[in-house]
Amino acid sequence: MKYKTNIKYRKDKLQDLLKSVLEHEDAIIEALYADFKKPKFEAVATETSYVISELKHTLKNLSKWAKPEYVLPSLFNFPSTDYILKEPYGKILIIAPWNYPFQLALCPLIAAVAAGNSVVVKPSELTPATSAIISKIITEVFDENHVQVIEGGVIVSQELLAQRWDYIFFTGSVAVGKVVAKAAANFMTPTTLELGGKNPCIVGENCNIQLTAKRIVWGKFLNAGQTCIAPDYILVDSENKSKLIKALEEEIILAYGESPETSQDYPRIINEKNWLRLTHFLENQTIIYGGQRNPLTNFLAPTLIDEPKLDSLVMQEEIFGPILPIISYEKEESIEELVSKYEKPLAFYVFSNDIKWARKTVQKHAFGGGCINDTIVHFSNHRLPFGGVGHSGSGAYHGKLSFDTFSHKKAIVQKATWLDLPMRYAPYKDKIKYLQKILNWW
Ligand code: NAD
Repeated sequence: MKYKTNIKYRKDKLQDLLKSVLEHEDAIIEALYADFKKPKFEAVATETSYVISELKHTLKNLSKWAKPEYVLPSLFNFPSTDYILKEPYGKILIIAPWNYPFQLALCPLIAAVAAGNSVVVKPSELTPATSAIISKIITEVFDENHVQVIEGGVIVSQELLAQRWDYIFFTGSVAVGKVVAKAAANFMTPTTLELGGKNPCIVGENCNIQLTAKRIVWGKFLNAGQTCIAPDYILVDSENKSKLIKALEEEIILAYGESPETSQDYPRIINEKNWLRLTHFLENQTIIYGGQRNPLTNFLAPTLIDEPKLDSLVMQEEIFGPILPIISYEKEESIEELVSKYEKPLAFYVFSNDIKWARKTVQKHAFGGGCINDTIVHFSNHRLPFGGVGHSGSGAYHGKLSFDTFSHKKAIVQKATWLDLPMRYAPYKDKIKYLQKILNWW
């Protein structure tokens, strides 16, 4: 399917999509709750309102983004008009994960449509209620040759990857990212890979411990830790360790009460397989807080573990759940030593009142994006690129960058015919002297 669209048509369709998302907002929230008890507040804050705001921002700016971009001509080409056309790639495949199943399927879709492409979206099989409502909305809004939802699991995903696409946008694990990259290589298809990793959270010697704990607890236990940019482990200055643990415990209780299982604000682990994976991480660890679990409902409480061995599973794999290891350091060099044991993470957090030190720390390490004195919130600014580096992904999106992601930048030199400088043509004779003079002067 090749579907060329003009700007008006794209805007009309995005407007229809906005209307449909607003109409179905309650059903989307219910689906997210049915899939893994995502609290209503989190469903609105991190899924529906995020998509609505991305739609509004795109509708407001699309005409401007899609315009040809004029650039200064080069001296060599004088006289010419040079510009960049934003051309749709063509057929886009979007493969989405389960943890923010609505937002992570819809946001790339909005940008792909805005850029004039046709799209196939494969949502996650692990969130069937949300996938069904996505399918309903898309079927209502789009012609099936323009945007289509194909539901299914690994086999369906692999069948789609075996086909030829003009661009693949994948969000998910590093392991499946490699499968996608290999499939894309068969057709030289460009990709964006939004993957994961072990995100460090550094708590320095000079910081506001209570506020630090509050912001870590929020970013870590939101969505029950099933967030690609959640802090994976804490590295805390040894002087602050006991104060931080006390503050973390207090903040967990403030957020979810003494019994998080009965809290309306705490989701469940997505399925039994992931619940078993996470509870396995807790074996032979020192649990200093939490650890309560219920296999019947895939419940796992916010859990703090003390000084895990670096060769234990919890420190070898991305956690992606409500387990927070706490490791202390004596010397600053130990931070680098530990962080550099892992592949470049998707996110990185540092807490300190010493902003100079914090800035130095974020410059020293390679990672996708992050925050000083907060967690996760860099995701929410559409002016910032969102993406990983190395194993945590390639490419970035959000805001205008999402539109750019799905547009091929076609470079055009429109040459004037009223003048034709003879310099570049053979025979060159002694023209090199003049060429060098001009280039040195330029
Ligand atoms: P996943 O890689 O298991 O699945 C993602 C998608 O790929 C799903 O649609 C699934 O059906 C499909 N898939 C699974 N196995 C496949 C295979 N062998 N071949 C082809 N397709 C396959 O990831 P997940 O469990 O849904 O999500 C968790 C992971 O995603 C974590 O690692 C997390 O860090 C990462 N993530 C990254 C971002 C980001 O923006 N960078 C956002 C959310 C999640």
